[in-house]
Amino acid sequence: MAHLSVLVAEFGEEVPYAGGLDRGFPFRGARVPFLNYQKGIYRARVQSGPAALSIQTSSKSPYDDEILADGFLYAYRAGAIDQPDNRALRVARELQVPLVYFIGTRPGWYKPVFPVYVREDDPVRRVVLVTPGALLGPLDEPEPVPLEEEIERRYAVRQTRVRLHQARFRGRVVPAYSSQCAICRLKELRLLDAAHILGDVMEAGEATVSNGLSLCAIHHRAFDQNLVGVSPDYIVHVSRRLREDEDGPMLHLLKGFHEAPILVPGRRADRPDRGRLDARFAAFLSLST
Ligand SMILES: [Zn+2]
Repeated sequence: MAHLSVLVAEFGEEVPYAGGLDRGFPFRGARVPFLNYQKGIYRARVQSGPAALSIQTSSKSPYDDEILADGFLYAYRAGAIDQPDNRALRVARELQVPLVYFIGTRPGWYKPVFPVYVREDDPVRRVVLVTPGALLGPLDEPEPVPLEEEIERRYAVRQTRVRLHQARFRGRVVPAYSSQCAICRLKELRLLDAAHILGDVMEAGEATVSNGLSLCAIHHRAFDQNLVGVSPDYIVHVSRRLREDEDGPMLHLLKGFHEAPILVPGRRADRPDRGRLDARFAAFLSLST
């Protein structure tokens, strides 16, 4: 978990498999993989204990039905309930050892959730309930502990759900715009976000690309703060306050896009939904100063 924390610090909440997780971590002179992206349930060969080290779900699997209020449902592998992988998963509950849950956000990228614990085991439905824990103690040597308070678990699950939604949404919206800011065309992936036109991060089902805009960090913030709006005819509007302010090159850059057209995705179905833009633009007109 310490090595994983380093990767999270390097890449952010989403970590790529290639060039990131595939580095594994050193243990007793060997390099140990973090996960098995093909099998799901993973127990490393160097482990002496019988429990799994990590579990994984791919970015293709829908997550809405699998996230309960205070944990995540995780299905057994096909086959016997005591085949080796299922055994490793079920033993994790008996021993209450901390695991890492790698949730796929887009092909080749994962959001690691750690530590997690297998709290309940249902061999009839062939699922376990995985609940979040916390890393407590000194920064250099924190201990993974289960969250005993239900309210804390619910909070942690809710946070994960929102982050997952954001990550998957971004993973679909930004590429639809060829990884550019719809307003300024900036192409630096690390500065690009997916902004919601109508902001509902808890919306059900798959995040719809047409409810999003690929925006750089500064334009995303400006859009969320109603300093910049986009009308249903795909034109940028800069708030009067910013337009009348005269201070510095950055502001000039913001003002410069007033009445310019936004970039839209090539695929018609991915383009910003005009009805949603209309509702959002009305809010911009009434709230912007
Ligand atoms: Zn921009």
